Amino acid sequence: MSFATAPSPPVTLPRGRADLVVVGAGIIGLAHAVEAVRRGLRVTVVERDLRPVGASVRNFGHCCITAQQGDLLTLAQRSRTGWLDAAAQAGLWAPEAGALVVARSATELAVLEELRDERGADAVRLRTRDEVGEALGRATDERADLVGGALLPADLRVNPREAAPRLAAWLAGQPGATVLWGTNVTGVEPGTVHTARGPVHGDQILLCVGHDLDRLYPVEAEAHGIERCRLSMARIEAPTAFRTDAAVLTATSMLRYDAFTATPSATRLRAEVTGHSPELLDVVANVMFTRLPDGTVLVGDSHAYDVTEIPFQDEATSALLLREVARVLGVREVRVTERWQGVYASSARGPLLVRDVAPGVRAVAVTSGVGMTLSFGLAAATFDGALKATA
Ligand SMILES: Cc1cc2nc3c(=O)[nH]c(=O)nc-3n(C[C@H](O)[C@H](O)[C@H](O)COP(=O)(O)OP(=O)(O)OC[C@H]3O[C@@H](n4cnc5c(N)ncnc54)[C@H](O)[C@@H]3O)c2cc1C
Repeated sequence: MSFATAPSPPVTLPRGRADLVVVGAGIIGLAHAVEAVRRGLRVTVVERDLRPVGASVRNFGHCCITAQQGDLLTLAQRSRTGWLDAAAQAGLWAPEAGALVVARSATELAVLEELRDERGADAVRLRTRDEVGEALGRATDERADLVGGALLPADLRVNPREAAPRLAAWLAGQPGATVLWGTNVTGVEPGTVHTARGPVHGDQILLCVGHDLDRLYPVEAEAHGIERCRLSMARIEAPTAFRTDAAVLTATSMLRYDAFTATPSATRLRAEVTGHSPELLDVVANVMFTRLPDGTVLVGDSHAYDVTEIPFQDEATSALLLREVARVLGVREVRVTERWQGVYASSARGPLLVRDVAPGVRAVAVTSGVGMTLSFGLAAATFDGALKATA
């Protein structure tokens, strides 16, 4: 699918009043709009750009279910069902391919074994060196650095370049749903969203604008400590034997996601990675990759935090990540076809922002880098009234 789209038709603002106006056509806004349509509501989505170009199209397309913990695990499991339903409705690519966590040391394997002990052998399926090598497409005599791994079968894959645009197109065809592209929201008051094209009215308003909440509600964004997290990403040509649709995670992923960091061996793993690869920790790397349906592979990533992101991408960081990916794939080097910078909302104060900013106006954002994973669970919880909002 080509990412660019044809020129959009002229925008006509709806005359009537929707039950719900959603600001932002990223995955959080779209999941809420899809959920609203499922519940028979009239919904208008207002998006400033001509198509989704935010975090929701720049990511790995990995619904990282099993590695969540506590309430987020519950939301993620609910989200999985929502994704599969949406995929069936909108015709999305969403294989139940799972995630493959590669272990290249005894400590890495210990983390996976401990997670298996906690979650059970169905949720965390340990894999041998050869099974991991096979999935990575490595020749049998080039697997010596592999120790084993685990398949997390509940994880899903989607194509981030396709999912949000297709969901928006599906929504636009539903009775009672309208998607307004190229319509920048300049301010909000109860019952009315003010846009650069004029007012849009709705009984309830949901702001799903990610890190750009600080453009509309700076005080509320500051109160939640919202920062921009900037990530280095690239797309590479896949080595010919690499075939799996599972998301491939590595040791630095195990240092990142709560289910792994809660295991007894996680502290030892951090010390081990600090010892052999401190440069990965310096750039807060999560070395992982996912294959797209066309066979190319999305690889990344590093994390840099600031309220206003630094626009410059450090080539040394990109080179470091690519070297690591090549090592995991067992190839000398990889060929890059695209690079980009991803930006998402982040906060040290909590993984979710759910805040009532005015009567009938709620801001919802995932502030922990797993918005693809949580989107549909979050949307269902919003409509069930299951989320506790701060006023
Ligand atoms: C590189 C990278 C890798 C990631 N990998 C994963 C992953 O594998 N799994 C996972 O679960 N998560 C991942 N994430 C996180 C995930 O992508 C985000 O949490 C999620 O996409 C956030 O969705 P969103 O809808 O809030 O934001 P966005 O997709 O950024 O959407 C917000 C939308 O609001 C619109 N908007 C903003 N202001 C206005 C305005 N004033 N008027 C109108 N419209 C406005 C924007 O134009 C934008 O379209 C990753 C993120 C990045 C950047």
